[in-house]
Amino acid sequence: MQTQASDIYSDLGLRRVINAAATLTRLGGSLMPRPVLDAMMAAARSYIDLPELQRRAGEKLARMTRNEAAYVSSGAAAGLTLSTAACITGTDPAKIARLPNDLVGLKNEVVIHRCQRNGYDHAVRQTGVTLVEIGMHGITHPWELESAINERTAAVVYFAGANFEKGALPLATVVGIAHARSVPVIVDGAAQIPPIANLWNYTEAGADLAVFSGGKALRGPQSSGLIVGRADLIEAIRLNGPPNAAIGRPMKCGKEEIAGLVAAVEFYLGQDEPALIQRYERQVARVVDAMAGIAGVTARRDFPSEAGQPMPRALIVFDSAALGVDRDEVVRRLGEGDPYVEVAKSATDGIFVNPQTLADGEEDIVIERIHQALGRARRHGG
Ligand SMILES: *Cc1c(COP(=O)(O)O)cnc(C)c1O
Repeated sequence: MQTQASDIYSDLGLRRVINAAATLTRLGGSLMPRPVLDAMMAAARSYIDLPELQRRAGEKLARMTRNEAAYVSSGAAAGLTLSTAACITGTDPAKIARLPNDLVGLKNEVVIHRCQRNGYDHAVRQTGVTLVEIGMHGITHPWELESAINERTAAVVYFAGANFEKGALPLATVVGIAHARSVPVIVDGAAQIPPIANLWNYTEAGADLAVFSGGKALRGPQSSGLIVGRADLIEAIRLNGPPNAAIGRPMKCGKEEIAGLVAAVEFYLGQDEPALIQRYERQVARVVDAMAGIAGVTARRDFPSEAGQPMPRALIVFDSAALGVDRDEVVRRLGEGDPYVEVAKSATDGIFVNPQTLADGEEDIVIERIHQALGRARRHGG
């Protein structure tokens, strides 16, 4: 598989990436395991009733994730758009036809914590709704949510995870206030796996819909996402989605992606998650140990990870005065060659090495490349 992919990529003049950064869309998300690839191949071999495939796949996904209903979208961002649309229109075709340009008289506001504003809320806004912000960066009061909800409120959107939840109301509080006013809550948990239990945690906590990326920790197709939650809202999503001529029509999820996502969820549920996290711990420990004793370099285990997930990553800090080279130069050197290494930056002087997107043992290549980058640095730095 790898050889084939390399051939396609080198044919296009591209260099391969060793991804020690994260499940980033711009780097290809994640790598699909064999059973997911097999499911996509099998799905590609015949025509199928696509809406019926979507329905059956949704039923299976709902059972597997302990939810009432489920839907496969073309990504978590598409899931946000479809979920928002569903909360505005319900199953009313006349309302569905009006999105995104004619929302006068419809529920056309979505409440969001100010501290949770981020680029992905564009996916909510593209339905045509106006965001109503609550709270300050450090703190949000329950009365702010209470007073932001009115007869125009379609939903509250809540970005889950340790990073977004700092300064926000707890999800349980949001659900309590919203439900008392008959307003649904949409949770974005796109990158909040592990733990896999989040596939049911948010809805068990009262969220009406929860959205996940298929192409991050689930290791499904990069252009897939999972929406779980209330059956009536999933039905409304279906009506807003492809192949129907509605706002979700450009967010098409193919038969291969639907089959691949089902296989990916099955694969993840069948694996030993604590053992997976133990593997991450071993990889991180190996990286930290390999930096010990290099003058000007300090390394330690960092927790939680990039999107606030409860798993470790390595933080390596470079003292440019001692090394004669700064962090940005190290990153630049890691970015040379084929394959090259991508890492995430920390503050002004550090990098993170994230094991989630490294194969077992691939951390050794990253270690070697960091050593090389510093070795050259020591020579040039004299
Ligand atoms: C990655 C991410 C998304 C987008 O997910 P896709 O599956 O790439 O569409 C949305 N929201 C958050 C918080 C994310 O981290």
